[in-house]
Amino acid sequence: MQPDTSMNRSGTVCSIPVKNFIRRVREFHGATAPGVILGGYMVDLAYRHLPKGDILLDALSETRTCLPDAIQLLTPCTIGNGWLKVLDLGKFALCLYDKSSGGGIRVFVDTERLKPFPEIKAWFFKLKTKKEQYLEVLLDEIQTAGSQICGVMPVKLRPEIFEVRRRGPFRVCPICHESYPAQHGDCCLDCSGKTPYLI
Ligand code: ZN
Repeated sequence: MQPDTSMNRSGTVCSIPVKNFIRRVREFHGATAPGVILGGYMVDLAYRHLPKGDILLDALSETRTCLPDAIQLLTPCTIGNGWLKVLDLGKFALCLYDKSSGGGIRVFVDTERLKPFPEIKAWFFKLKTKKEQYLEVLLDEIQTAGSQICGVMPVKLRPEIFEVRRRGPFRVCPICHESYPAQHGDCCLDCSGKTPYLI
């Protein structure tokens, strides 16, 4: 693990002025979510540690919460295009990596560095209810802290995570007549009882 020695003091996140980024977060995420704002600084930090040059980038989020939206706002990686994977470990960490080698940079919140930022600490460890949390103070602290509170480490992804999985053939379900992956069996998962719908 290495400390963030390339502190971003420019008031930008991935070359976007922070104010504009916060506005985009509000539009995309539906709220000025502190986790997405902090995620912006984390993506920025990961970018700054990646080797320069043409690499095809993929992303991994270790949580379902907030970070996938920061990644989708600031990189070409989305859930839909398959370049962003979410592995729900419940950890507020992300990784940007070279999709051909699986080598990349992981950024996480370094809990040791939260001491000077009580509002971030209270939010991060859910020590206060949403009502008790001062959003403005929290957002100010996040902007002051930026990537100071983050750790960076080079990582190499396991092949089963980063290698592109070929999707097998599809067939028509004999019950609902919709298409589904043939590897799921004789009928689709919906019709075999795994439907999310009551009716
Ligand atoms: Zn079916």
